[in-house]
Amino acid sequence: MIGISFGSFLNVVADRVPQRKSIVSPPSHCFNCGHVLEARDLIPVVSYLVLKGRCRYCGAGIPLRSMLVELITGLLFVLAWAVLGLQWQLPVVLLYICILIVLSITDLESGFLPGIIIYPSIGIVLIITLVKILAGLSPDIIGAGIGFIAGFGFFFLIWCIAWLIKKVVIGFGDVLMGGLIGLMVGFPLVAAAIYVAVLMGGLTVILMVILKLWKLNQPIPFALFLASGAVVTLLWGREISNLISLLVT
Ligand SMILES: [Zn+2]
Repeated sequence: MIGISFGSFLNVVADRVPQRKSIVSPPSHCFNCGHVLEARDLIPVVSYLVLKGRCRYCGAGIPLRSMLVELITGLLFVLAWAVLGLQWQLPVVLLYICILIVLSITDLESGFLPGIIIYPSIGIVLIITLVKILAGLSPDIIGAGIGFIAGFGFFFLIWCIAWLIKKVVIGFGDVLMGGLIGLMVGFPLVAAAIYVAVLMGGLTVILMVILKLWKLNQPIPFALFLASGAVVTLLWGREISNLISLLVT
């Protein structure tokens, strides 16, 4: 329930922040008729189902995305709780999941990550990382730093190559997001996050091209895959580390 409520808030953030609108006022309203929504219209998931996806006042369709985001956020919160248990990492991972969801929605819907979304995200993660280090919870300042540089550097390299051959493969927002997930998971786990992201992105693009849903040369909404790689690594980082050390030795 907490996750679903957060999902509801993330919808508002993803709708308003890229347009530089306040996230507190005006209150939630219909995109079509502008009618201010009442409490009974604002119950996450339930209101959407009761109203059959239509505005109570004008009948215009409510974007399905709002319900999907609420459900996915709720499911990811439950998953994080189930995997990590109640410990100090849980609220940090939940906050990271929220940031990754907003970045994914923005990239999927607008095709790029505007600075007003990506820079504050990096700022929040940077502050949390510093707090973790100062509190002695995660004293790995070098790991976080190298994680950021590795994540940023890997995608910056791809971005440079793409620029040289004059093809748009990823946007600069994706490069910054590479740094962001590196900061979240640290080094060497950033490599696992990138591996999962590139694998999932690649497989999805191949599938979409085969199904003729995607034309090559179209930029890939890569934030979603980066976010997926980061979530997998945040939840199963320890298992992945063990697996890597097992393979290396
Ligand atoms: Zn309406």
